[in-house]
Amino acid sequence: MRLNHSPSLAKLLVLPLATLAAGAAMAEEYLTGIKWEQPPIIQPGKTDSQPPSDAVVLFNGQDLSNWNNGERWTVEDGVILCGQGVITSKEKFGDCQLHIEWSAPTPPEGKGQGRGNSGVFMMGKYELQVLDSYDNETYFDGQAGAIYKQTPPMVNAMRPPGQWNSYDIFWTAPRFREDGSLESPAYITALHNGVLVLNHFELLGDTPFNRPPRYVKHEPVGPISLQDHGNPVRFRNIWVRPLNPPKGEQVRKPYLRDGQKETPLSE
Ligand code: MG
Repeated sequence: MRLNHSPSLAKLLVLPLATLAAGAAMAEEYLTGIKWEQPPIIQPGKTDSQPPSDAVVLFNGQDLSNWNNGERWTVEDGVILCGQGVITSKEKFGDCQLHIEWSAPTPPEGKGQGRGNSGVFMMGKYELQVLDSYDNETYFDGQAGAIYKQTPPMVNAMRPPGQWNSYDIFWTAPRFREDGSLESPAYITALHNGVLVLNHFELLGDTPFNRPPRYVKHEPVGPISLQDHGNPVRFRNIWVRPLNPPKGEQVRKPYLRDGQKETPLSE
């Protein structure tokens, strides 16, 4: 059987027409009228656990000099061991990305809220629970990855005691008006061991044990705090990136451009 590879007459006629039509559609370009600044160029970490070049490193395996009350916790073999009382970062943050790694005590001791309990407090007030939630029953809005007493995580991505867990937290700080009322709530998105466990969750307020959550006006920035719940939880690789939105200016209204022809878009 002989195959005919020569283009048919129909194809010869259709192809140039299609090309012309595509060209016509492509010629009209939408432009926002916004003059964007170039996003800062940074160097990512060598691995996802290592800080990128624009991060504030709160613990790099050396000491607790970046923390208040650090003298009452210990550093052993490049790792923080939970001690007496909460530790609080000296630097304060608003909207930010936080990376932190933690490991539950091994062998596991205690049960429920008494096993490997600590916590990452955003702005010193809003707790993302740290708990040994590997084969350990407790109330679901108090397990690892929960916003304490507000929501459980979507899934339990816990590694067994002795292994390292990571949290990658994307935090939007609450905003308050002059009169102290809430302008916009806090939001959190969080990955536990690379798995999405909180997706733009809207916080109802702070996260105490003994009363409902509420918002009380505070500074636009606050520290990162780590909880002492009496369990020897370990931490390492802690870094924060303050978040700044892309910068730009609306220098003209949006428009379509087709060669020399520009057509403003109505609002
Ligand atoms: Mg806790």
